[in-house]
Amino acid sequence: DLSDTSDDTIVAIVTPVGGQHGAVEIIRLSGPSAVAIVKTLFVPSRRKKKYGKLRTEWSPVSHMVEYGTVIDASGALVDEVLVVPMLTPRSYTREDVIEIQCHGGGICSRRVLHLCLEAGARLAQPGEFTLRAFLNGRLDLSQAENVAQLVSAKTISAAETALAGLQGGLSVLVRSLRAECIEMLADVDARLDFDDELPDLNANLLIQKIEKIWQQVQQALKTEKRGKLLQIGIQVAIVGRPNVGKSSLLNAWSQTDRAIVTNVAGTTRDIVEAGIVVGGFPVKLLDTAGIRETHDVVESIGVERSVVAAKGADVIVMVVNAQDGWTQDDTHIFDKLLRVRDTCSGLASSILVINKIDQAPTNSVTRTEFVKAFDKVVPTCALQRLGFDDLEAALLDLVGTGDVTSVGQMWAVNQRQAEQLLRASEALERLKGSIQQCLPIDFWAVDIKEAAIAFGEISGDVVSEEVLSRIFSKFCIGK
Ligand code: GDP
Ligand code: ZN
Repeated sequence: DLSDTSDDTIVAIVTPVGGQHGAVEIIRLSGPSAVAIVKTLFVPSRRKKKYGKLRTEWSPVSHMVEYGTVIDASGALVDEVLVVPMLTPRSYTREDVIEIQCHGGGICSRRVLHLCLEAGARLAQPGEFTLRAFLNGRLDLSQAENVAQLVSAKTISAAETALAGLQGGLSVLVRSLRAECIEMLADVDARLDFDDELPDLNANLLIQKIEKIWQQVQQALKTEKRGKLLQIGIQVAIVGRPNVGKSSLLNAWSQTDRAIVTNVAGTTRDIVEAGIVVGGFPVKLLDTAGIRETHDVVESIGVERSVVAAKGADVIVMVVNAQDGWTQDDTHIFDKLLRVRDTCSGLASSILVINKIDQAPTNSVTRTEFVKAFDKVVPTCALQRLGFDDLEAALLDLVGTGDVTSVGQMWAVNQRQAEQLLRASEALERLKGSIQQCLPIDFWAVDIKEAAIAFGEISGDVVSEEVLSRIFSKFCIGK
């Protein structure tokens, strides 16, 4: 049960645990006993000087850093630390929060953590600090979700988008839309209760209001795709027959030499990945084995894998080359891709790259009828790194980042928020229909309420514990 745990004082190591250790590690406590717990283990050094070796109680001053030592129950020295008290309500959780900065390396912080647990603190659940910030009204739910998105952001644009959400861009909008719905509901409800005493509602005015809300919901919904791409990234499968230059393309594009480039056809057998950033979006490039008919068992496994990779990719980049023109093998691959994409005419979200333009003009390929099936055609020379700006522009165009660029500070909605916006949008459409068809106002009330609840689910004003625990369980411990 989420709501009655806040009597506890929670503790966690908030700096990375495991992996490489930093110079400093931080332990964070939050809750009503945070001060009492720290008192049992922290000896501020200024008191020590003043009163000699006599141990006196620490009395925290909010937002004042204090230097001192941590000692265990027997009085043995555990670490030299800095303690930062942030007393209620001026803290992240609005409870008493104390951060203890220990020496890094993993040993000191774990010993201090242990002392906190012995003194009565409880280990924090994933996201529990942020959950408390939400429950205590410091953040609304959409802001809390942006905290998780911020710490998992892989590009600057993704981080900026999460920050914009954390600053409350979406929250302000949703709060005002919800308030408008509640106001409408009050008007309608009043007429349900005191039918005769009030003048009729102005249907035209009401419809105007609904349309204005609906428009704003559509605008917000448009940000979902960008948000998803920023968070999850774009998968690009590079396919094509052997020797056209797929591996060279991946290496040149990612400016690495991850993929092995050879003259021997069919060398790439495992899928090679490279992560790059295009227009602020994280992009994962997959260099697949050349898709071709093969009797070599190992190679055919590789070919199967590339078909699967192509299936899961957001964008397929099929590479051919100008030197050879469009070949019979290219047609084979093309047919296979058509089957993968389950389309009969064109290849959804696909780019045809004509490589090796240093060797021959592109018209050996562009003359063919197959070109039409691709969304974009980009000539490149992987060896000289030519054509990559066009390739990136084509990619961004294809994933539909179009008018909303990834560079701005605009917030974006996540899938959960988009589901609720859609629910609100549908309720508003039904509402408009009921008004236009002059249905009784009982009907209106149902849909207005539905829209208000949907907005409330985004802000967290109306949200079930189940949804809350689903959201916060995705956080890391210490957030
Ligand atoms: P893959 O089998 O499709 O991955 O092709 P590779 O990347 O291994 O390249 C096959 C051969 O083509 C290598 O010898 C590359 O150096 C060469 N190659 C790749 N791109 C170009 C290009 O743009 N121009 C020229 N002239 N050669 C290229
Ligand atoms: Zn290759």
